[in-house]
Amino acid sequence: MSGLPSATALVRAVQARDVTPSDLLDQALARAQAAAPLNALVSLHPLAAEHAERVATRMDAGEVLPLAGLPIVVKDNINVTGTRTTCGSRILDRYVSPYTATAAQRLLDAGAVIVGKANMDEFAMGSSTESSASGPTLNPWDTGRVPGGSSGGSAAAVAAAVTAVALGSDTGGSVRQPAALCGVYGLKPTYGRVSRYGLVAYASSLDQIGPLAHRAEDLALLMNVIAGHDPRDATSLDAPPRFRAGTPDDLRGLRVGVIRESLGGNTAGVSRTLDGTLDALRGAGATVQEVSLPELKYAIAAYYLIAMPEASSNLARFDGMVYGHREPGADVTGSMTLTRERGFGREVQRRIMIGTYALSSGYYDAYYSRAMKVRRRLAESFAAAFAGVDVLVTPTSPFPAFRCGEKTSDPLAMYAADVDTVAINLAGLPALSVPMGFETVDGLDLPVGIQFIAPALDDERLVRLAGGLEGIGAVQARVAPAYA
Ligand code: GLN
Repeated sequence: MSGLPSATALVRAVQARDVTPSDLLDQALARAQAAAPLNALVSLHPLAAEHAERVATRMDAGEVLPLAGLPIVVKDNINVTGTRTTCGSRILDRYVSPYTATAAQRLLDAGAVIVGKANMDEFAMGSSTESSASGPTLNPWDTGRVPGGSSGGSAAAVAAAVTAVALGSDTGGSVRQPAALCGVYGLKPTYGRVSRYGLVAYASSLDQIGPLAHRAEDLALLMNVIAGHDPRDATSLDAPPRFRAGTPDDLRGLRVGVIRESLGGNTAGVSRTLDGTLDALRGAGATVQEVSLPELKYAIAAYYLIAMPEASSNLARFDGMVYGHREPGADVTGSMTLTRERGFGREVQRRIMIGTYALSSGYYDAYYSRAMKVRRRLAESFAAAFAGVDVLVTPTSPFPAFRCGEKTSDPLAMYAADVDTVAINLAGLPALSVPMGFETVDGLDLPVGIQFIAPALDDERLVRLAGGLEGIGAVQARVAPAYA
């Protein structure tokens, strides 16, 4: 493939009748087949071919479709009628969605064609996409390494150019961290900007759906379609999307704050990439200053003490009575117990138990309630920091892609992979991981992502900034070499 995949160019080609939606679907399916060893997709949409033809019919009838014929994959925790939605779990292995999530429906209404569902850590709990009941996804840059997680299937599919764009979900970093480890963009919108209706809940006060792409203009293209108020999500905000990729002009005078607490503990390649990013920004007329957010050292602990209790509550519905898999038992309790014991993997069970414990009377004040106080303090600190800067910057991850199996037996090491991302979800802010460099490890180039954080509701600023960085040639977006 020549050049970087461009959703914007594909849509234009379809609109100009240079190519049909069915042609684009066939190309995506061929690429999915070539990338099959990565295990990025868990299923194909059985109606995709029909949908591609329907898009052509709608165009013939004169409809102007902003995503005409665009092939896309969505994470397997996003319901799409007629597709299996397994959430990477055995407990939902045969569950077929009876309805479509708002974000996915908006894609379809705009003319996109959902090719298939992307692999993920079970119920989005993880940072490596190794805990899926469908087996692990591999990193297209080095198949001995993880793609990050939990939206590792979405990130690997985009990095291998199966599709130009994908949707993931981000509760504590699950769009941004895999995007960083696979060398693509990943945007976590402000909490409430993209409807969560139809997204299977992990931790409802933190979850957001977000796009992955190779180009800033493609992030804008998708966000202008999927963001916006949805009456079916009570936390949805009424903030009409106005995204565009910026130009170098958007960097001039930009006040950038680099978070001091994120400067230690990074690999040499990550530190170098951050320095290079700051130099590029200064060169383009931005000012850079250090900003301190001391509460960040509590972010990981607070995040897991909030995410796990919410998960323990959200996952109570999977009891074999209403949804998915059911194990027979002597009585109802026996059946529920066996269903949950065999249906959920180890990490999910661990989180349900820790979450339930943290909420139990006698421990609630010490754990959950204290974590909520940290959460509020963090949000206040971010708000104070934004009085003096326009954007904040950190690495997305302290290290590039790690080896398969390296952290699977050490949950705390796996949790620590999110050290730079979880605070943003706690504060509800928008953040974008931009592919800004590489670190050579064992002779292979591994992508490094840099995270930009904006004030609440100014997600648009991040995409303008990304366009500006592209304009000065600073962004290192690339298809993984084996798939280029
Ligand atoms: N790795 C984090 C967790 O396991 C974040 C996951 C996510 O954002 N879905 O909770």
